Amino acid sequence: MISKQHIINRFVSYVTIDTESDPESNTTPSTEKQWDLANKLVEDLKDIGLEDISIDEHAYIMATLPSNIDQEVPTIGFISHFDTSPDFTGANVNPQIIENYDGKDITLNASENIILSPDYFEDLKQYKDQTLITTDGTTLLGADDKAGITEIITAMEYLVQHPEIKHGKIRIGFTPDEEIGRGAHKFDVSKFGADWAYTMDGSQIGELEYENFNAAGAVVTIKGKIVHPGYAKGKMINSMYIAQDFINSLPRMETPEHTSGREGFFHLHTMKGNVEETQLQYIIRDHDKEHFEARKKVMKNLANEINTQHAKEVVHIEIKDQYFNMREKVEPVMHIVDIAEEAMKSLDITPIIKPIRGGTDGSQLSFMGLPCPNIFAGGHNFHGRYEYVPVESMIKAVEVIVKIAELTAKK
Ligand SMILES: [Zn+2]
Repeated sequence: MISKQHIINRFVSYVTIDTESDPESNTTPSTEKQWDLANKLVEDLKDIGLEDISIDEHAYIMATLPSNIDQEVPTIGFISHFDTSPDFTGANVNPQIIENYDGKDITLNASENIILSPDYFEDLKQYKDQTLITTDGTTLLGADDKAGITEIITAMEYLVQHPEIKHGKIRIGFTPDEEIGRGAHKFDVSKFGADWAYTMDGSQIGELEYENFNAAGAVVTIKGKIVHPGYAKGKMINSMYIAQDFINSLPRMETPEHTSGREGFFHLHTMKGNVEETQLQYIIRDHDKEHFEARKKVMKNLANEINTQHAKEVVHIEIKDQYFNMREKVEPVMHIVDIAEEAMKSLDITPIIKPIRGGTDGSQLSFMGLPCPNIFAGGHNFHGRYEYVPVESMIKAVEVIVKIAELTAKK
């Protein structure tokens, strides 16, 4: 139903525009170059015939595909982000199209001997005989999330061209700066005006997610006392040793490298110090809200204990919540997940429903009043040189969007 070449052309026209976001920047969008693609997307939305197209001063794009039925049905939305991760360069992306993938090693870059191999990336095996789009080994690809953008626009174009498919009002939203955790920050939920939405920002075909971590960050600052080491007895307090005690008092097995599924963790990601002061930076993650609160308490209690031992505040801890599990916002409206699941099954896609071990824009949007599960966009190995996307998965994602629109109008 969707032409392969058409979708490849659109995708390539997006990934070849550099839109890397920048966590150090305080502006929105965080990088000026994101406007290059944002402006193009606005033109493309006009070209396919959408209405109410708007782009605000922060480059948030919205548009409408009007309903083509008489009865009132819910307004749904589809959302994706056009920035790419600052983890790896997105400048001069040079996509490679591999047709009829033979299931063997793919040489991304012969001169630098960069190989995309199914021995290491086993997911590749399921895409034998399909068309893959890869990098040339020197950049990321940007399928995260330009695959999602491509799919949403292609699905809207298809619906415009096929008025025999009946649907309600559909809103689409494209955001900057998702990769630096700010995609939802300036998203105007009331202007968007949808009853619910889906982010097209998952990975492999079939993914459907409505659970993510509860997340907080903790900064632990430990104050010591510097004295000449030769005369330090009874006087010196070495903040690094106190930091070591602090670290060792947290459960060593509750760390990212020892947990999976719904198991939460404490993750020490930065440590810097000298005798006088040591700083530890942690992230705290747990799907379960009570466990999440308990983890924060464990860290605070630990700080208090050490302070009591020293009879003064040597450990100062600051914990900030970052985002919450959207499950509590989605569960009361579970039919929005059921529709997506039904859409996939009707297209012979096996839904893969699992908790995200991270966050999504959808979780923030869900807490802003727009319940927003996440659906696969098709890519793999995000944020690096081994990123790739099968074109067949992108086409399936387009079909899922069309089917969800259709099913919502029938409910
Ligand atoms: Zn993404």
